[in-house]
Amino acid sequence: MDPLAYLAGVDGETDKEDRMTDYGILGAGPAGLSMALFLEGSSEVLEAGDHPGGHASSFFEEGFTFDFGPHIMFSKNKPVLQFMIDSLEGNVHECRRKNVVSFRNRLVKYPFENALAALPLEDNLACLKGYVFNPYKAQFPQPANLREWLLVTFGDGICERYLFPYNEKVWNIPVEELSMLWADRIPNPNPEDILKSAIGYETEGYLHQLYYHYPRHGGYQAISEAWAKRAAVTYGFHVQSLERREDSWLVSDGTQTREYRQLTSTLPIQYLATITNLDIPTEVRAAIDGLIVNPMFIVSLGIRGTDADQYTAIYFPEPEFLVNRVSFPATFSPENAPAGTYSIQAEITCTRDSATWAMTDAAILEHVIDGLLSRGIVARRDDIIYRNVQRKTYSYVVYDRYYAENTRIIREWFPRHGLHLAGRFGFVEYVNVDGVLIRNLEIASQLNGRPVSVSGSAVVR
Ligand SMILES: Cc1cc2nc3c(=O)[nH]c(=O)nc-3n(C[C@H](O)[C@H](O)[C@H](O)COP(=O)(O)OP(=O)(O)OC[C@H]3O[C@@H](n4cnc5c(N)ncnc54)[C@H](O)[C@@H]3O)c2cc1C
Repeated sequence: MDPLAYLAGVDGETDKEDRMTDYGILGAGPAGLSMALFLEGSSEVLEAGDHPGGHASSFFEEGFTFDFGPHIMFSKNKPVLQFMIDSLEGNVHECRRKNVVSFRNRLVKYPFENALAALPLEDNLACLKGYVFNPYKAQFPQPANLREWLLVTFGDGICERYLFPYNEKVWNIPVEELSMLWADRIPNPNPEDILKSAIGYETEGYLHQLYYHYPRHGGYQAISEAWAKRAAVTYGFHVQSLERREDSWLVSDGTQTREYRQLTSTLPIQYLATITNLDIPTEVRAAIDGLIVNPMFIVSLGIRGTDADQYTAIYFPEPEFLVNRVSFPATFSPENAPAGTYSIQAEITCTRDSATWAMTDAAILEHVIDGLLSRGIVARRDDIIYRNVQRKTYSYVVYDRYYAENTRIIREWFPRHGLHLAGRFGFVEYVNVDGVLIRNLEIASQLNGRPVSVSGSAVVR
């Protein structure tokens, strides 16, 4: 008999019950880690990999620091942003955005509508005319999809030259199939700014991300590292099966099994559905199958020399170049590249059944390098001293017209059967880390039965 059994009562079963961890949390990305901080009671986070951060983690090679796609800290939610910043305990670098858009062999300031005077005169006129004399406001008084909303909000000149091709490239579906939910993320332009920008005044748009933060040291992963220190995390546990018991869950990686009173998953819902013993109804399976979560390539380059332009990012609406954005991680923190070098990271989103996803890593790398050389973004091939290609299978949650209904079904059914969902790929939302935290505060408040909030780096329950 366990010598301490008498503390919990004479019955061995009671002892086991009392020692059972309240929450199993699957995945140590930002969602799993923050959930562990927000929930009341004991918890254990199970992570397949050997480090925290998930998609928002970093890799460190040959003196360069890269994230899996460029990550920066900004948010409209001030307490949540402060929580992220304060969690870093001073390991923070503040920067000012300097983004540009590639257009007809020139780079114009981002957002596009705030830099119309930089366009060729006829494009400037077409954009301004489309904005001022906009017939779509009357045609679509209640826009039904993103195409209609963009036309009403920006006019056809800006849409046809930039917003339509860029959005179709990123989301890989026609803009008319994108839901209005996406519109919440695009700020309405200030009409006076558009007029001013067309005649050459300097204006700024998207002010909430004009200044951003980034960890000075350790890449974006440093944020998750800070949260992981405050949670109980088990690495190298690749969850392979979930068994619902009467009052608990058994979680196994094939060799070890854990038992929890409750379970929260941040794993991609498509995978989750294949590993639980829950009897998932056809309607719920169809909703999961109907979701679109696109993959992406991330191409990281180290460049010898000095980055004279210090751009944060360049956006590419042109369809012939597969890249939708390149970023310059050494502008996020000077520690992201060794002295005498800088770095570039290119993102390519596509669908799983596309010719692009079927390309070899070598072909993707050549395409990116050729595109950067021909656009003068990298001066000489010989200056490229580091090359890396990554594939991420789950990256972009697409808000197509079925998204709202599919997620409604999933988000109702799983929690009703004792499986709580969280995170970008578990709750299935196109959210940044701040959005993950905002949603988790809501979910944790429900599970705790009282509000949870953040103040500085503290969690207030
Ligand atoms: C290109 C790109 C750029 C982005 N830029 C920004 C940005 O600038 N700022 C920002 O805040 N956010 C940004 N994001 C969003 C950010 O990456 C996500 O919001 C965040 O990573 C979501 O966290 P998560 O915990 O929900 O999921 P994830 O980060 O995917 O974490 C899930 C975790 O589960 C683990 N896991 C998976 N399967 C198993 C298994 N079977 N068993 C155990 N563990 C498992 C994974 O290893 C991972 O650690 C960007 C995303 C992309 C794709």
